[in-house]
Amino acid sequence: MYFIDPHVHMVSRVTDDYERMARMGCVAMSEPAFWAGFDRGSVDGFRDYFKQLIEFEPRRASWSGIQHYTWLCINAKEAENVELSREVIKMIPEFIERTGVLGVGEIGLNKNTKNESTIFREHLELAAKLKELVLIHTPHLQDKYKGTRMIIDMLQERSDLPPERVLVDHVEEHTVRLALEGGFWCAMTLYPTTKCTPARAADIIERYGDERIMVNSAGDWGPSNPLAVPDFIQEMRKRGHSEAKIRKIVYDNPLQFYRQCRRFSFKPPA
Ligand SMILES: [Zn+2]
Repeated sequence: MYFIDPHVHMVSRVTDDYERMARMGCVAMSEPAFWAGFDRGSVDGFRDYFKQLIEFEPRRASWSGIQHYTWLCINAKEAENVELSREVIKMIPEFIERTGVLGVGEIGLNKNTKNESTIFREHLELAAKLKELVLIHTPHLQDKYKGTRMIIDMLQERSDLPPERVLVDHVEEHTVRLALEGGFWCAMTLYPTTKCTPARAADIIERYGDERIMVNSAGDWGPSNPLAVPDFIQEMRKRGHSEAKIRKIVYDNPLQFYRQCRRFSFKPPA
């Protein structure tokens, strides 16, 4: 089955991962800007990173026949440096109209601090002004419910950011309803240790349905599995779900969300 991985950090993966993903049916992916594992020292570090995301990764993906899209921002971990964050936000318009850029993300909260909220709001301001899609990172583990609640409250302060143009990522059993009931799109991250396993994600689908929801691997530089979406497909098949239902979650839904971006130029596989 063809699938799309809507959240994977390929700059941290090797070319063999692209090849393995393609062999399993991956035809497209989107790569949010995120934390590199260390805090970058200047706005030029982000300029180079944005170029890598926009220029090199799509080329590397194309070697395996995969279409690569990206999102731009400064992540919540580095948002503690408000001054640097503002310089990065000011630079985003230079890059946002480039081919393959889907919008602003992944923005959100990490430790739910005041500085993170300030920078989150300033990203939302930019996205609203430029009429861009938004991809949200929700915090991990014990901070997740509170952080997701705070994020959704801040999103709902704005009438100029329609919920159907916002994707709330890393939802779990206790936060999926917050996102869906607010009218947002949401995504479950399939991680080997923390976040959702494929079985938990399948449970959530059985409970909350398949509207405005998708799954991703969030493959990055830590323990993660870029083939997590195929694992989810297998889990759903084992449970007897139809191919059409599975395809909706791993292919049709991401496409429906991305098609709201005026630059999205997906070519379906022949
Ligand atoms: Zn991520």
